[in-house]
Amino acid sequence: MKLTCIIGGDGDSCHSLDLSQFNQDSNTVIRVDDSVEGLTEISALCESKKPDSIVLIAKAPLRFRDDLQIGLLQRLIEIGINPASIGFVNLNGIVLCSDSEEQVLARLQITTDLAHKRVAHGKPLSVEKVKPIKRCLVVGELLENDLKLLAQNGIELIHIWSENNREIHSDVGLQSLSGLPGDYQISLLQSGNRAEEHRCGAVVVNTSSLNREQTKQLAEAMKIPLPADTFRLPPDRHVLTAGVWVLEKENEQQTAGWVAEVSSFLSQETIESYLDACTVNLAKCGLCGTCVKTCMFSANSIDLKSGLIHFDQTRCTGCGNCVTACPVLARDLHHYSNSYMASIADNLHAFKGRDGIRILGLFCENNGYKAVNYLAGAGKRVSSSYYFLPVKCGARIGTEIIPDSFQNGFDGVALLVCARDECNQLVGSLDLERRFNLYRTIMKAQGQESGRMRIFSIKEKELGNVHDGLEQFAQYLDDLRTDQAVFSQL
Ligand code: SF4
Ligand code: SF4
Repeated sequence: MKLTCIIGGDGDSCHSLDLSQFNQDSNTVIRVDDSVEGLTEISALCESKKPDSIVLIAKAPLRFRDDLQIGLLQRLIEIGINPASIGFVNLNGIVLCSDSEEQVLARLQITTDLAHKRVAHGKPLSVEKVKPIKRCLVVGELLENDLKLLAQNGIELIHIWSENNREIHSDVGLQSLSGLPGDYQISLLQSGNRAEEHRCGAVVVNTSSLNREQTKQLAEAMKIPLPADTFRLPPDRHVLTAGVWVLEKENEQQTAGWVAEVSSFLSQETIESYLDACTVNLAKCGLCGTCVKTCMFSANSIDLKSGLIHFDQTRCTGCGNCVTACPVLARDLHHYSNSYMASIADNLHAFKGRDGIRILGLFCENNGYKAVNYLAGAGKRVSSSYYFLPVKCGARIGTEIIPDSFQNGFDGVALLVCARDECNQLVGSLDLERRFNLYRTIMKAQGQESGRMRIFSIKEKELGNVHDGLEQFAQYLDDLRTDQAVFSQL
């Protein structure tokens, strides 16, 4: 059974949609508002029906996902639903390029079907259980009182960059942090370039006490991209991971909250983590080493003893770079599987576009997603020639999407991704540009119009800028088609 949930309150663009027109073939469709009651209705239905796939449709549901993590999503996981069975549809990406309610419904139908398909093509995420280590890495200065409270709760502390409260300490800093919430491996740098290995269950960072150099080093060790114009880590736990607390400033009001959270986190019997890592098919692997070179998170290495690729799934962020790069398709992702990616263009026959002009727009889940939300929120519209779909990162977009799209009647492909220095996956945008610029030269050599593919590099502070570029691109494709029609008549 497939379950489709449209979530939105009064005044949301989805509120007035006529669901009778929605294809309900083996698909239960419900509409709820985003109140506690509405979300409870979804989890109750999931508990009783145990659907194969669930698609949550809302305005910016990845933003909404933050709340779901501590609410609906957590509840769904508790009742035994694998996170890989849950798909999201961002209504903003649909409204942005629709001229009428009829178009919204038609696009929503296609997008929802694709979201169910994406879930069906993926594999369940594996669950890892760890017994939490009652040790906490404390980064920067924290109030003595809070540290005492942690110690009273039986939590051992490891300090770095702390003048006042250091016990075990590193003179130089943090080299790496990997592992799972509740059991992280940390490598502390000592003077003389000596590394010291430790394990801890949780990490607390007081960003306000760190200087620019320390923050940069920490961000690199924790694989967190920092915005170019700031040296503060985002005080936003979902950007990091469970088991990591980032405090902007410590004060008395904050204290009770985070100390209690860390203490109860580390007091659990076991901590379960779903690993959103890629998969490796060792039978297909030709040991070319491409994934070792492409992975920025050191998740791959060649095991000289076994002569096989060694993959550390606890380091993998599921960015998809190695999946796109592997020459024999030995790697895959749960959320954006090879078979799903290969089927996208083929599944969009029902999409008409404007005056027959059709443009496939793929947007990354970071700045691409933010740009779509920003434009929709600002009441901007772009040409209804566009059809927008999310992809995890530019890292996951392979060049085969170009010929696939053209063969399926698309006039152009727009890729909305982060500017290089803001890529959530460090080199996703850079590698996308490298691949597609190379492909552009192949298109030229084949006598194809290479301008039919365009990359939009988006900065978080300039989300609105992409609007004019999208309109110009649609106009360019329109003119190109007119020119070609005139040319063919001569
Ligand atoms: S890129 Fe693919 S074939 Fe090459 S080593 Fe990695 S998994 Fe094996
Ligand atoms: S998906 Fe990304 S993080 Fe995971 S192994 Fe591949 S390149 Fe590394």
